Amino acid sequence: MGNGISDAIKQAGVVGAGGAGFPTHVKAESRVDTVVANGSECEPLLHSDQALMLEYPKEIVAGLEQMMQATGASRGILALKARYVEQVEAFRMLLSSHPDVTLAELGNFYPSGDEQSLVYETTGRIVPEGGIPLNVGVVVDNVETLYNVHQAMKGIPVTERTVTVVGEVRSPGVYRYPVGTTVADAIRMCGGTTVPDVAVIDGGPMMGRIGFGLAGVIRKTTSGLIVVPADHPFVIRRTLPVNMELLRTVSMCCQCRECTDLCPRYQLGHDLEPHKVMRAVITRSENPPHQVTQAHICCQCGICETIACPLGLSPRNVFAMVRRELAAKGVRNPHHRKPEQVRVAYAYTKLPKERALARTGLSQYDGHSPYRGPVSGVRRVELLLSQHIGAPAKPVVRQGAFVNRGEMVAAPPDGVLSAAIHASISGRVTAVASDRIVIEG
Ligand code: SF4
Ligand code: SF4
Repeated sequence: MGNGISDAIKQAGVVGAGGAGFPTHVKAESRVDTVVANGSECEPLLHSDQALMLEYPKEIVAGLEQMMQATGASRGILALKARYVEQVEAFRMLLSSHPDVTLAELGNFYPSGDEQSLVYETTGRIVPEGGIPLNVGVVVDNVETLYNVHQAMKGIPVTERTVTVVGEVRSPGVYRYPVGTTVADAIRMCGGTTVPDVAVIDGGPMMGRIGFGLAGVIRKTTSGLIVVPADHPFVIRRTLPVNMELLRTVSMCCQCRECTDLCPRYQLGHDLEPHKVMRAVITRSENPPHQVTQAHICCQCGICETIACPLGLSPRNVFAMVRRELAAKGVRNPHHRKPEQVRVAYAYTKLPKERALARTGLSQYDGHSPYRGPVSGVRRVELLLSQHIGAPAKPVVRQGAFVNRGEMVAAPPDGVLSAAIHASISGRVTAVASDRIVIEG
């Protein structure tokens, strides 16, 4: 059931900016006691949230309090890394007049921004296997989401996205782009690439999606564009075909269990032991099925693949394949246990962010991301109808129509989970396709 705040958030098309793209108005309709603002930004190389927290601390705190009001939460927690000294200082000064919001200073580890790790670090509560923070009375929102919530309460829809552009580009930095800017235009506005053949990671190196060339567009969930040479070992490793992945697993996995010992879900107390799932895959055994289905509760953080496995195997990719097979057979996640406590080694297996970055082989691109603000001169945008969890939005404009920036061009269909899309530039609608709306300024 909606409330005034969730209605405004829905109207503005706010979705989780941290990567998942869950429609925020649904979270605003829940009842919880705590709302956590996620400013951890644990993915290496990304600086978007850090820049936003410096530029708009007041708006983020206001968005957090609006979410607290919507959900009935009595407590707000602003969680960010202790090493973000300037941001911590800015929030500390602000929060002296906001007694219901406290600051949580996190360690510099990956994946501190994972919702389940964050909930444990800030509240001491453990989210059940396969569950969400709501199961333990918490809503988690990324800081850009909360900035967008605050804008929504002023009637301003989501039309921009903060993006870190780093790697093989001439002017790396943190930019605010109109949603729907093509990756090719975005990179051109950074002076272009410095090598001819590139791959682009949409997001961070640990969990982002890799595409070759400059295809793609900026979505509401695009936190970074990391441009790397197409033949970089990191790209080759991450884009290995799944049949190769399986062959390597069968012939190489030595059951050392390093992947289990460093798995953040295992350390939270969940019943996920990656080495046992790998064993079940190697022996093609569906017995005990209990082990195969553990793949359902993997969060795809990539620690097993990038850091843990001494043989360079990827439990993460293998589990993604296992999940697809289980879904095709109609096998749902049977794991819903709620651990009483984390495992004894929890505190000793937190992975320093620098270590994660070093293992990706992308360290040379770190530390070159000044905030450069909103870009101007974007003349064409492609607005994807599905850039959120749920059903695609339904176009409400026709080809040839003129639209103003901020005007709704696709609405969420009635009765299903979805989110609205708005024109991010003013101009003429030149195409309404099954998956996108194109506007030319
Ligand atoms: S770390 Fe690698 S070799 Fe060791 S059990 Fe896991 S997948 Fe197998
Ligand atoms: S990707 Fe690997 S380390 Fe991360 S949760 Fe899944 S199995 Fe564990």
